Amino acid sequence: MSREKVFNFSAGPSVMPLSVLEKARDELLDYRSCGMSVMEMSHRSSLFQEIFDSTKEKLKAALSVPDSHEILFLQGGATLQFAAIPMNLMEGGTADYAVTGNFSSKAAKEAEKYGRVNIACDSSDTGHDRIPTQSELKLSDEAKYFYYCANNTVYGTEWQYVPETKAPLVCDMSSDILSRPVDVAKFGLIYAGAQKNMAPAGLTVVILDKSLAGREMPITPSVMSYKTLIKADSMLNTPPCWCIYMLGLTLDWLESQGGVVGMEQIKRERAGRVYAYLDESRLFKAHARADSRSDMNVTFRTGDPELDAEFVKGAAARGLLNLKGHKVAGGMRASLYNAMPMEGVTALIEYMKEFETKHHV
Ligand SMILES: *Cc1c(COP(=O)(O)O)cnc(C)c1O
Repeated sequence: MSREKVFNFSAGPSVMPLSVLEKARDELLDYRSCGMSVMEMSHRSSLFQEIFDSTKEKLKAALSVPDSHEILFLQGGATLQFAAIPMNLMEGGTADYAVTGNFSSKAAKEAEKYGRVNIACDSSDTGHDRIPTQSELKLSDEAKYFYYCANNTVYGTEWQYVPETKAPLVCDMSSDILSRPVDVAKFGLIYAGAQKNMAPAGLTVVILDKSLAGREMPITPSVMSYKTLIKADSMLNTPPCWCIYMLGLTLDWLESQGGVVGMEQIKRERAGRVYAYLDESRLFKAHARADSRSDMNVTFRTGDPELDAEFVKGAAARGLLNLKGHKVAGGMRASLYNAMPMEGVTALIEYMKEFETKHHV
């Protein structure tokens, strides 16, 4: 069994390593001669427990997670964490939120239900084309945590530094986790939906400083209480078993590619090539400012919505899929996650050059 050769630039769910899909296919019906698929196994079985434990260990190793932090495998997507974070950590007080795009804006709005949100910065005045500098951040003294989104999937900007704050850092890494080394000890909480850079949709990874657990509001649902979830080792109820298994396979692949250090080199090269072309193009323009650009989601436009639509359509016709930008941002977006091969970037740039030659007057 093979498949059509395309390059999938979807922002999420998104491309996965072919070898991971092949391995999953090979083990789909009969996991290691047990006569069952991973999808059919009890999450309380020793066979699944082994998958769970080894995946957790591999993630711990991949990100060098210190013993002070716990890894949780949860459901509900990144969006559930928009609520879980304030319910668990805000203590009815204040939290600082850096609003640099679509998802941090949503997270800040959700948090307003549970306490006072101090907007530490807001880049909406320039269409979220930049990440603020440290000195631009307006931090409040009493903040229970500082919240930011490491990579803005919709607008294509990425924090190039880790903010310095007194309050614990809480970070949405949904679209750049495992794409570069992270000093996990600096963070109170890191979380990520799996469907951008890790596994199929349905799994959310939370990495939490254990000393922050146990501060939840009394009304917090048990299934959202970090303290309860840590105690149950993510198995208060049925975890997303298949996705956890898939994450394990992705982490094996990641290791074979040089881990997060290897990924960082590759991502710089992938995105660097597209930005270099954009900077010399007379037709296309990058959305993000040079010092704030994302290596994961490259956003660009021609300035003419009709031409953008033609570009996207023509790209799809030659197997360059899902290049249309998010509806709130418009234009185009090429998502270059870990599993995007360099040939995909080459094919994209080739097509952009052809399109430019055809249309530039
Ligand atoms: C996709 C995405 C989300 C939303 O994820 P869901 O799993 O759909 O809730 C949140 N934050 C970022 C940075 C994302 O890229």
